[in-house]
Amino acid sequence: MPVDKVYSEKEILKMAEVQQSMFEPRDIQVSTVMPIPATLPEELRMFAFNKGDVSTFPAPKLDSTNLVGYYLLDASSILPVIALDLQPHDSVLDLCAAPGGKTLAMLQLVSADYMTCNDVSTARLRRLKEVLKWYYPHYSNVDILQRDARQMHECLYSKVLVDAPCNTDRHVVLEDENNLFKPSRVNERLELPRRQKDLLLAGIKCCKPGGSVVYSTCTLSPAQNDGVIQAVVEEIWQQTSIDIVIQDLTWMASKFRNTFKFYRNCRHGQLVLPCLTANFGPMYFSKITRIK
Ligand code: SAM
Repeated sequence: MPVDKVYSEKEILKMAEVQQSMFEPRDIQVSTVMPIPATLPEELRMFAFNKGDVSTFPAPKLDSTNLVGYYLLDASSILPVIALDLQPHDSVLDLCAAPGGKTLAMLQLVSADYMTCNDVSTARLRRLKEVLKWYYPHYSNVDILQRDARQMHECLYSKVLVDAPCNTDRHVVLEDENNLFKPSRVNERLELPRRQKDLLLAGIKCCKPGGSVVYSTCTLSPAQNDGVIQAVVEEIWQQTSIDIVIQDLTWMASKFRNTFKFYRNCRHGQLVLPCLTANFGPMYFSKITRIK
């Protein structure tokens, strides 16, 4: 075939980016179940501004017990934790845990003896340990691992959180440092959906039958949200004997509609959309239960 068009490297990258950002829904065989809405645990102490209140909150300080009184995080970060529906004796794996915002929330609900935190990054794990030391006096009971989670498959846990690395939309529009949209990081960015798929697959393998996995990101990218769930469901059906169902989390969008704005058209999960009067998110979360 004669060559009829020559593309520059830049154009090829651009095409790859456009392709990466798209998500084409396919008719895949996956059951979605409507769970009984979880009740909010009384132990979970969290506070958020009401819709329309855009004031800033003072930075936390050490209190009289030498612990820090509160941890500031985007309020929508609590939603994947609530979706997990933790029970006191659940054995929990936080697969991508650092710096530990969601770990702290989970430690309000389960004993540290039942919690395993993993992250691949040395610097971020150091930060996680600091956070635990400041906020959680019994942190030495937490099992802390430094592994590439994609290699993990020990089927030991009843609840797994896969809070995956992603575009970090809020960070990249506000900060230059470590910005994933730098030209030098283009390959890393294009690699994300594959990495996310491998992390979620590992999370499902680590989850015992009957247990659940919550996948979350803080990006609006459909390819990194519903697209990853779809790719994982396909791979599980085609290449493993694992059986899963997706939990419908619409009840959460209804329950929290006074605090967050939800995008209603995701296929496999819920997405918090930042808007001026409810400036939280983005936060996508989807829940998968392992049947066998
Ligand atoms: N859950 C954390 C929290 O609430 O503070 C935030 C997690 S952050 C979105 C994603 C994390 O995934 C990063 O800390 C990164 O180091 C980690 N990560 C990326 N690739 C990984 C891998 N292959 N194995 C384990 N952790 C990984």
